Amino acid sequence: MERSRKFSFETLEDQVRLSFVFIVTGLLLSVGKPAYAENTLHVEVLPSVVKQGDVCVIRASRPASLKSIYGEFQGERFPIAFGVRNGTSAGLLGIDMDTQPATYEIKVVATDGSSRVYSSALSLKVEKVDFGTQTLSLPPSMVDLDSKTLERVNEEARRLKVLFQGFRDERLWSGAFIFPVQGEITTVFGVRRVINGQPRSPHTGVDLRAEERAPVWACNIGVVVLVDQLFFSGKSVILDHGWGIYSMYFHLSEALVRQEDRVSKGAILGRVGSTGRSTGPHLHWGIRMSGARVDPLSLFRLTEHLRE
Ligand SMILES: [Zn+2]
Repeated sequence: MERSRKFSFETLEDQVRLSFVFIVTGLLLSVGKPAYAENTLHVEVLPSVVKQGDVCVIRASRPASLKSIYGEFQGERFPIAFGVRNGTSAGLLGIDMDTQPATYEIKVVATDGSSRVYSSALSLKVEKVDFGTQTLSLPPSMVDLDSKTLERVNEEARRLKVLFQGFRDERLWSGAFIFPVQGEITTVFGVRRVINGQPRSPHTGVDLRAEERAPVWACNIGVVVLVDQLFFSGKSVILDHGWGIYSMYFHLSEALVRQEDRVSKGAILGRVGSTGRSTGPHLHWGIRMSGARVDPLSLFRLTEHLRE
């Protein structure tokens, strides 16, 4: 979609990453004979080196008569089943922003029609990112919380945590994840924040500049799982895209969807605002993948050239 191309890749690093994504998506979409013998499970991760907060693709050549297949990272399972073509399957894996930099093992397990189990492992290197620091001044009432407000904030955080632990078996998302508003990035993902001189929680999404009441679009197909007024994020909408992927839209002036609504990609969810802890109209866009806090731009770049 045209509006999703608004973001420009400015740095050389971005260019390199982008060309890599072409290769990754090329592999995902490639048409041809499976490169490996029928009854072996060959797996690869692309890229094989990622940064904290990145998303990567796991690709597996599957045994004939596949019955089930999944991946495992740090003891947690994740699905591998989209882009199935000519004996290959793929899955997306999100690396939380606080994942310790190290080399990890990813396991892929598959079973065939006669319940024979295939297992294969590969390694993924996670590199540290210097996310930088942002210093902000805000009204003390939004920073030094009284006990009642603190209780509210903690309750809201618990509620969201439970929500993000949910896993919908059905994959609703399809193809590319698009930008939810047309606007440049004002605050990047992961920035450590110092508010009124005190270190606070890091920025777990990206802030996009937009005018008050500009439409906010669903970044992919999903189900509305939350519409509420929260203390920090103000008027908020959260979508469940299936397979553990959630997207968040914060600080809205108005929400135009209701809980349990099923929305298409690009559907209007609400309007940009400055509700909650915000210094002016903008959209905060966040992505969770099986609980991992990931950079929405990483998901955008990785899926940009996927077919619907
Ligand atoms: Zn934000």
